[in-house]
Amino acid sequence: MRSSTKTKAPNHQDAFLSVDIGGTNVTCGLVNRRGDVLAMDIFPIAQAGSGSEQIIQTIIQRLKALWASSKLGAPLAVAIGAPGWIKPKEGLVVNAPNLKGWENIPITEMISQGLGLPARLENDSNLYALGEWLAGAGRGCDNQIVVTLGTGVGAGLILNGKLWNGSFTSAAEIGHIPLGPSNTVKCGCGRVGCLETVASARGIARMAREWLEAGQETIFKGSLQELDAQVMKELAERGDPMSLHVFKQAGLALGQILAGVFNLLSLERAVLGGGASGAFAFIKAALVEYLEPRLVTATIDQIQIVKSSLGIQAPLVGGAGHLSAEGF
Ligand SMILES: [Zn+2]
Repeated sequence: MRSSTKTKAPNHQDAFLSVDIGGTNVTCGLVNRRGDVLAMDIFPIAQAGSGSEQIIQTIIQRLKALWASSKLGAPLAVAIGAPGWIKPKEGLVVNAPNLKGWENIPITEMISQGLGLPARLENDSNLYALGEWLAGAGRGCDNQIVVTLGTGVGAGLILNGKLWNGSFTSAAEIGHIPLGPSNTVKCGCGRVGCLETVASARGIARMAREWLEAGQETIFKGSLQELDAQVMKELAERGDPMSLHVFKQAGLALGQILAGVFNLLSLERAVLGGGASGAFAFIKAALVEYLEPRLVTATIDQIQIVKSSLGIQAPLVGGAGHLSAEGF
């Protein structure tokens, strides 16, 4: 597996633990140096406990169980992917808007002590981007953005063949770029009109709810609770006006922000991943419709908008790549 900085000689038996803490699910994995996911465990964060302390203790137990179930020796280290604003060097989750009550959590020390292993913290979207770049749909592309459409909207930037961290750690927070004064929806971050209020799973659910409340046309007959991204994708495939409208809005909003990002950075590719990317075909159509006439640094034929190929494994693979690059 490629790595952005120094690497040791490849040993496919070297194993790393990776954990991706999302707003909805926690995913744990045992990954070798080549980037193969050897074992995986996924569970809803709501079932892991009520506060950060309980959730982190559950994560430690699940990582221990994953490690015990393998026939490999001790993992070399553990990579932690956390959402929101983090301080990787200090091992701190400063504030995670989609995880209630997570403020100034010393997660690296807690997990490292719980497992008796060295640990490293990175932004979850950065690890996702690293995974797709090293072993997925982002392979071979040195200038790209990897966007995750999950509970929120995150992104990781690969620039000149390196993960871009910026000066204040969590770079590429495109989910919180404002869409403009016409959008007055309050975001989980406390601001108003962020991309995330439209293009995330939450944004998609909100727009569907508003459509239903307005009594507009739809073939959907169930209750609001059943209306997740997967159900809406199936509805869109059957021509449902509500789902087609909502995915179009999400795609146009993404296109608006990505037009700025592509023109600013002269990128070659955008990889779309995360739970809501199941509806990729519908979102992409609207995204390209918005983007094509607004691209300045390249034509639409010179860039690629592609779907993530590793899916939920991407941050686990990225975690192993990150640890490798850190010299483990
Ligand atoms: Zn926001």
